[in-house]
Amino acid sequence: MKTQILPLTDESVKLADKLLKDGNLVGIPTETVYGLGAIGTDSEAVKKIFIAKGRPSDNPLIAHVHKDFDLNKIVNVTREYALKLKDAYTPGPLTMVFESKGVVCSEAVCGGETLAVRIPSHEGCQKLLRKVDAPIVAPSANISKHTSPVTAKHVFDDLDGKIPLILDGGKCTGGIESTVVDVTGEVPRILRAGLITKEMIEAVCGSCEIAKHAEGDRVKSPGVKYSHYRPKCQTMLFEPNEIDRAKEAYRQAEADGKRVFIMCADQMQEAFSGYNLLLLGSDGNQIASNLYDKLLEGEKKADLIIALSFGREDGVYLGIMNRLKKSCG
Ligand code: AMP
Ligand code: MG
Repeated sequence: MKTQILPLTDESVKLADKLLKDGNLVGIPTETVYGLGAIGTDSEAVKKIFIAKGRPSDNPLIAHVHKDFDLNKIVNVTREYALKLKDAYTPGPLTMVFESKGVVCSEAVCGGETLAVRIPSHEGCQKLLRKVDAPIVAPSANISKHTSPVTAKHVFDDLDGKIPLILDGGKCTGGIESTVVDVTGEVPRILRAGLITKEMIEAVCGSCEIAKHAEGDRVKSPGVKYSHYRPKCQTMLFEPNEIDRAKEAYRQAEADGKRVFIMCADQMQEAFSGYNLLLLGSDGNQIASNLYDKLLEGEKKADLIIALSFGREDGVYLGIMNRLKKSCG
């Protein structure tokens, strides 16, 4: 199959709509990462997602809808705080897990009784969702376990020959996957951290829990248990107070003939002057936005990426550190 990349226009949205309705997969931009979409009511199309990605069959998909889509068509909204969250943070990088009405096929939810729903803010994505006017289920558009794509080219690098079309909507601004929140219980519970933080949810709902995925627990968000986000080169991860150890590892790898890059926040730049650098930016939002892009740039030019963490896990850093530990830890 030939894979086309087309800029997202009225014309290409029309083509994507047709391809999706004919049971095909399409690579789609969102503000978090690129998604690999299929119509959520089409079991055969949804099965193709799991095959194209090599995705474990117990890891459910998120249903994406446009901002005027009536959620009651696909889920039971049982908690008032869920509507407050919807008002406050959607369209945006927030996914809410509701009781499913079974309209989205069981393949998409892996036989489960809940459905994760997101209303993306990316304008081009909204345009496509409006045109399709049905839930598009989409995981990130990468081969399972690889770093998530934040440009159309990243999608092409992983899925060339496997899908007919990738809509190019520019580089994703958010850069890490959405916050996934279970909104079926008495209080909201974060299953996967992201740009909508615990603090932001608390500000709207009064309280918010973070699910602990302890060993032996029934895993509520299966995706969090897999190894994930890994670039194709070797990686190491150091704390910000381990600069000397990081430099030692760099020198050692260089002596072994490896191409090495340090990946760190801009604030660390001076400490590593003269080293090959992949700079992530200076605040949480910039770092999130650049993280996958720099990992995917790094895997092309480095044999080893040495990542420096940031010494904090509050706010958006919780989601960032979750990704960084899985990709480089
Ligand atoms: P991905 O689209 O690959 O970024 O992964 C979607 C994330 O949402 C994974 O961590 C899934 O396990 C999680 N997820 C999707 N649907 C549900 C659901 N119904 N209940 C709990 N977690 C879900
Ligand atoms: Mg993914």
